[in-house]
Amino acid sequence: MIREVKSVSGEDMDDYVTLKKVEPAAYRVFFGEDEGVQSLDLLYDVQKMCLQLEQVEEGAGGAFLRFLANAKEALDKGTASFIERDFKSFWDYADVPRLLPLLKHLSPIELLGQHHSTMRNYFKNPKLQAMFTFQDLYVGLTPYNAPGVFSLLAATELTDGVWYPVGGFAKVRDGLAQAAQKVGATITTKATVKRIDHANGQVQGVTLEDGTFMRANIVVANADLPYVYNSLLGSKVKTQASKLLSSKYSASVIAFQWALSSRLERLSHHNVFLSNCYEESWHRATDASTILERPNFYVHAPSRTDSTVCPLGTDAITVLLPVAHLGEGFSIGSASDDKQIVEAARERVISSLVRSGIGDISSMILSEVVYSPPTWQDSYNLQYGAAFGLAHNLLQLAYFRPDVAEPSIKGLYFAGASTRPGNGVPLVLMGAKVTTNRILEENYPFLSGN
Ligand SMILES: Cc1cc2nc3c(=O)[nH]c(=O)nc-3n(C[C@H](O)[C@H](O)[C@H](O)COP(=O)(O)OP(=O)(O)OC[C@H]3O[C@@H](n4cnc5c(N)ncnc54)[C@H](O)[C@@H]3O)c2cc1C
Repeated sequence: MIREVKSVSGEDMDDYVTLKKVEPAAYRVFFGEDEGVQSLDLLYDVQKMCLQLEQVEEGAGGAFLRFLANAKEALDKGTASFIERDFKSFWDYADVPRLLPLLKHLSPIELLGQHHSTMRNYFKNPKLQAMFTFQDLYVGLTPYNAPGVFSLLAATELTDGVWYPVGGFAKVRDGLAQAAQKVGATITTKATVKRIDHANGQVQGVTLEDGTFMRANIVVANADLPYVYNSLLGSKVKTQASKLLSSKYSASVIAFQWALSSRLERLSHHNVFLSNCYEESWHRATDASTILERPNFYVHAPSRTDSTVCPLGTDAITVLLPVAHLGEGFSIGSASDDKQIVEAARERVISSLVRSGIGDISSMILSEVVYSPPTWQDSYNLQYGAAFGLAHNLLQLAYFRPDVAEPSIKGLYFAGASTRPGNGVPLVLMGAKVTTNRILEENYPFLSGN
């Protein structure tokens, strides 16, 4: 998706960002059980992947091939029909001829049934079921409330591959900025928007926190949509503002960024640690006492792909541990409760790493940066500190997700995780394309090509 940006701006993104494939596996999955298989790799090499799975469960290699073919079908057809598409009315969404190619290959049960249940049609071993469903977390769902169509998340990682921008993600931001500046864009940073100004149903511009007014007849608000409605727009759109506050939200996350004095050899680039109580582990912890002894968490160790990340022989890792967001019982506003849950999370992560044979990192931590739910809310204006924005349950997807424009204010458009199609960098970039096309169609039809 990042590479596709080049054709839109006329610039070649490869000149700005070096994308390197994460090899040889998209992920390494560690299982929190003391018995049996301790870890498995999500390998791109299908033959090696089948061999690995056959050692866990007889017939699992063939089941994997069936799973991958169906998930790829959901990915290809679903992307064209739902993700990259602009829905201007319910009938755009319920357009049966458009749905037919998808339904021809996959049953509605496979697409809409509970993800965890659909996975039982492929694998008996709970570890394998978990290995192909944990990805639901990326969109703030769980295998127990996500529809089966989200198998497309694993499919995209296994077929398109997982790629890393050398030098870190900021290189993507900088590359996009440079490409935009080259075609005439002016970028202002460190300028907080206080208000989106509008009158008589027409957007007028934005007012910054320092009082500067910036006039514009088109405004694209990229901050989290519930925050935009509730904090940047006036009472005119009160109904939508309160509707968004009572919508479902994704999980929040406690994140640790650790610089370590030694390298953790058993870690791959992307690592997922799964709980031994798989179903229970999806109940989001609201305080220190509700974090499981062996919680689900993710570890990023980018020096496996990019040697510039840290000095040789040391490590730089980021840990993400999902927890409840501030609207669902997390002790909002209480600094001591926040401290307690962060301490519990740190202790559980460290003991899980020891138990999984990664090593005891407690004496290796040279520096630490922590993000907890209040950080996401206060520093990034993410509503309730929900790290992945509005959740992606069926009633908040596609047509049912907030539109990329506010109909009562001409010239006001949206982009980002809580509008269509949803969260994650690839989806947000696809959404930006939908928003751009809508702006062209509504304001510059001679440029839109439609
Ligand atoms: C811990 C974590 C890990 C993730 N890992 C991945 C991953 O591996 N892969 C992936 O694809 N996705 C990942 N995501 C999700 C991805 O980061 C988001 O989906 C994506 O960044 C959302 O893009 P956005 O444009 O909606 O919002 P953002 O990237 O948050 O951009 C919105 C910007 O608006 C700014 N802003 C807010 N309010 C104002 C204001 N009043 N004035 C001025 N500016 C304002 C914010 O500071 C922010 O910079 C991760 C998210 C988190 C939290």
